[in-house]
Amino acid sequence: MSVIDLRRLTSTARQQALRVVLIGPPGAGKGTQAATLKERYGLAHISTGDMLREEVRRQSPLGSQAKALMAAGKLVPDVLILQMMAQRFQQPDVSRGFLLDGFPRSRAQGEALVAMLAAHNQPLHTVVQLDLQDEEIVRRLCLRRSCPACGRVYHLQSNPPAQAGLCDADGSALVHREDDNEATIRTRLAVFHEQTEPVIEYFRSIGLLQRVDASRPIAHVEHLVERMVQGALTRTSPLRSSRRLTISKFRSLGRAARG
Ligand code: ADP
Ligand code: AMP
Repeated sequence: MSVIDLRRLTSTARQQALRVVLIGPPGAGKGTQAATLKERYGLAHISTGDMLREEVRRQSPLGSQAKALMAAGKLVPDVLILQMMAQRFQQPDVSRGFLLDGFPRSRAQGEALVAMLAAHNQPLHTVVQLDLQDEEIVRRLCLRRSCPACGRVYHLQSNPPAQAGLCDADGSALVHREDDNEATIRTRLAVFHEQTEPVIEYFRSIGLLQRVDASRPIAHVEHLVERMVQGALTRTSPLRSSRRLTISKFRSLGRAARG
């Protein structure tokens, strides 16, 4: 692909409201890749983990229901996540396209998302799976440091901040997440294999899944992800619908997920 083709596609993507899911185990690099894609395509970066941490910080009713589950590395119930996402999808920035990070995490969440987007004629362009072995995940997460203000992530060895302990973007003091300890990481991995792998399989079965080897260096993974997103755009006809997503639709899907 020539530079001109690439530029044309990138600008088409900006106009097209790109809709992408980044999926993979905790620590695979979803947030790291999302930061780059968000900037390049002007997308809303929607991380359910970041949203839940904010609810915990604000001590909201949702935050108090989620807090212990998050600290233990378990999933927050589907119905609560779907209600939270229904509200998030009402924000105006979503119409410019979005990047989902950490959602969906169960087959019920995945089916609810696909049904809701189909009902609004705004299907996903692609689901990019960042694939990584468990032992590498443990190494990555034990040394991850996060900025509580902007969400940017670092790694003490492979991706350190310019000034130790401080975020390059806004100078905030970096934190070591409570759930980034080895015991909780192993629980999160078990939860991933048991509950999130079925939704990856679901995306494969409906032809949306593309897999990336996430063990490669960050810049290399960026290049692979970019190629996949561009490929998905050339395969998918643009959809122009600008209808707003409705909270009631998502709530009813949440009720269905609860059974
Ligand atoms: P996720 O959002 O999937 O949980 P992160 O993007 O937070 O993962 O990345 C987890 C950790 O791994 C961070 O410390 C990050 O700096 C580091 N990391 C991300 N991608 C890579 C990579 N390709 N190679 C090495 N380290 C990486
Ligand atoms: P993350 O920041 O993506 O690693 O998520 C941190 C924690 O938030 C997870 O271990 C879960 O407890 C919770 N969480 C985030 N997203 C979801 C989701 N889509 N479904 C259920 N729980 C979630």
